Amino acid sequence: MRVLVTGGAGFIGSHLCDYLLKKGHEVICLDNFFTGRKENIKHNLDNFKFEVIRHDIVQPIFLEVDWIFHLASPASPIHYQYNPVKTTKTNVMGTIHMLGLAKRVKARILLASTSEVYGDPTVHPQKEDYWGNVNPIGPRSCYDEGKRVAETLMMDYYRQNNVDIRIVRIFNTYGPRMLKNDGRVVSNFIVQALTNEDITVFGDGTQTRSFCYIDDLVEGLYRMMEQEKHIGPINLGNPEEYKIIELAKKIIEMTNSKSKIVYKSLPPDDPTQRQPDITLAKKILNWQPTISLDKGLKKTIEYFKKILEVKNV
Ligand code: NAD
Ligand code: UDP
Repeated sequence: MRVLVTGGAGFIGSHLCDYLLKKGHEVICLDNFFTGRKENIKHNLDNFKFEVIRHDIVQPIFLEVDWIFHLASPASPIHYQYNPVKTTKTNVMGTIHMLGLAKRVKARILLASTSEVYGDPTVHPQKEDYWGNVNPIGPRSCYDEGKRVAETLMMDYYRQNNVDIRIVRIFNTYGPRMLKNDGRVVSNFIVQALTNEDITVFGDGTQTRSFCYIDDLVEGLYRMMEQEKHIGPINLGNPEEYKIIELAKKIIEMTNSKSKIVYKSLPPDDPTQRQPDITLAKKILNWQPTISLDKGLKKTIEYFKKILEVKNV
């Protein structure tokens, strides 16, 4: 297959490109390098099956491809709130352009949607048939509502134009190649712990998240794209749920850090709980995470030690 990965130089996208190349596919990585990095893909640059296009999906593009993994969008709150109008444009106009392309060349398209479509959920754990509890006018809504409209567009191109779609709702994913300054909790805590800086817990740390290691997530994305039975939406994430304070303590312990925990104010609309129900993914994709939080954190800590050049911890 010739596969387009939008956002292919980002955290998840670059791991997906590696996986697709290993499977023998031709890969076109499209990125505007807003949060993506050449460093993430440089090891593939001399592979003749790999191409890179610097392009912003807010503008249309024409390519001949069989599959589109549509991942382009900033994903961490500090990045998607940096230019919120652009975040909405990327998710709405960008998705229209990718769906237009899929329609024209009859490609299958998978949208990387998010657990944020459930907002601050009143149903726990979250199942795909839950419609969510999203503030439409808050600082997170450029992303949350942007992704909700992206899902709407996917469904309408499917119903109206028979576009072959797949929708995946990704829950908090972590691993090597996260940006050290990207503001997400796992990378923040690891960087703070390794440099013996204060660990910044927002709120009282009782809010929960469920953390999926990148390799598990990429496997799930591929299985969803490949199968013919289900268009989604389908949840992909690790159902093991942790309080943020527990994560902080675990990372301090694993890094032997001298860092102290400090409490900062909770950002507005920060969801109080989040845990995927993955019954559907188990049934349709025969998929469930295989990498425990301890194992995944160990690999991620090793990565950050290397890039921060931390010795003897
Ligand atoms: P990331 O920021 O590392 O990757 C996003 C990539 O998209 C970057 O390479 C960025 O440069 C690129 N991009 C952004 N706007 C673009 C535009 N207008 N045109 C072209 N490229 C653009 O984030 P990630 O964690 O790898 O997330 C990838 C996708 O997965 C996103 O769509 C995100 O919403 C979704 N997702 C991620 C998580 C997670 O926990 N990592 C959770 C839910 C959903
Ligand atoms: N968080 C925190 N300290 C940080 C960064 C994040 O306590 O330095 C909290 C944040 O308030 C949220 C959780 O960790 O409750 C996950 O945040 P992240 O930005 O990683 O993802 P999201 O909120 O999108 O799930």
